[in-house]
Amino acid sequence: MTAQAVNLRQRRGACPGLSAPMPTGDGLLVRIIPIGTVPLAAFSMLYAAARTHGNGVIEVTARGSIQVRGLNAASAPRFAAAVAALGIAAEDGVPVHSNPLAGLDAEEILDAGARAADLRRALAGTSLAARLAPKVSIAIDSGGGLSLDELAADVRLCAEATNNGVALRVGVAGDAARATQLGMVAPNNGVEGAMRLLEVIARYGRDARARDILAAEGVAGFRSTLADLLLIPARPREGGDSEMDSRLRGNERIVEDARHIRRQAIGQHTLRDESLAYGIGLAFGHSDAVALECLTEAAGTAGAIGIRAAPGRVLMIIGLKQEMSSSLITAAERLGFIVRADDPRRHVVACAGAPICSSAHIAARAIAPAIAQASAPLLDRSLTIHISGCAKGCAHPEPAALTIVGTPSGCALIADGSTRDAPYAQVSTNELPAAIANFTREREASHV
Ligand code: SF4
Repeated sequence: MTAQAVNLRQRRGACPGLSAPMPTGDGLLVRIIPIGTVPLAAFSMLYAAARTHGNGVIEVTARGSIQVRGLNAASAPRFAAAVAALGIAAEDGVPVHSNPLAGLDAEEILDAGARAADLRRALAGTSLAARLAPKVSIAIDSGGGLSLDELAADVRLCAEATNNGVALRVGVAGDAARATQLGMVAPNNGVEGAMRLLEVIARYGRDARARDILAAEGVAGFRSTLADLLLIPARPREGGDSEMDSRLRGNERIVEDARHIRRQAIGQHTLRDESLAYGIGLAFGHSDAVALECLTEAAGTAGAIGIRAAPGRVLMIIGLKQEMSSSLITAAERLGFIVRADDPRRHVVACAGAPICSSAHIAARAIAPAIAQASAPLLDRSLTIHISGCAKGCAHPEPAALTIVGTPSGCALIADGSTRDAPYAQVSTNELPAAIANFTREREASHV
């Protein structure tokens, strides 16, 4: 495969799978979205292949994908062959996300992993993958303790307990808080409902996303395609509100309540078979193959059987023995991984930045540790600092308390906005620590 061939195969915004690596500032990047638990030995060999064929930098993204960096035109096919030989189950079409502990979670009310497998089978029998934008995705939430609430998707199905058993709440375009809700369907109709919604999206062309269709055409097309599947029919009442809307509003309260008791991925989880899983975070979403090989070895020593990649830049270590989990936590901390949910590094999001990304104006990831340290007193669950190498904002399209954007003349600072919003100040990289200290002081003062 030549670099030109790679470029020709790759279009902007596409997802770089094994067979279609994406050119970046440090060579070619390959993205793998593993399905379910990957055995420890396979993960170790994946890391070793990343070290042999790439530059050893490995990322886990906010959506739970694994990215291997620093490949080249000659080494990318060799890496692809090495990974293919490992037999790791991975997404190979329209990504269908399920909960990090799907099928294992003692609290789930529906096996989202099994429904996701059903949906993948249904998709494989259609041409939808070729007709949908590469980033169109589906989220299926099991309604367990570890949710997919924060994962945005074009189509989302979330299991909820109702008076008549479990139903799937269907939404389009967004995370759990922002998606437009369409109604509830029976679990057995979830796959059919998702397929119909994807068909609606595909009708708008190869670049269409659910959010764009909503903005241009409203929700009618999505609602009407589900009309005969909805358990709660959309019958408008006088005054404009519909029975479905008010029932859904009630369900929104349930979701809000549930969100408070839903767990964070980082930390310990008890599984249905009473073994443990432990979510370990990658600081600023990246690590290197050697550290990850050491982590995998420590996981094996602690009795783990495999690893899942999870949203939020987390690796979920599966099947730990209760009495041995502390040895894994100690080893992970020593290797620089995040083992506690309140680690301030979790609240600083940084893209790869310069020199890794050729579009970057600042070394976003390299300056992230200092920024996390400087702003630790400010950071809690509700606040995020986003450092973006350029205005594209790949790592965090949403607003953040403070967004720092690399520009040709330094760093633009945006308060309570995203990279697309107007900055309140422009500083050089050297002035950044003082500017963040000012922001922190002012933010603290405004909360007194
Ligand atoms: S936000 Fe800009 S600099 Fe950062 S990874 Fe995306 S394109 Fe590169």
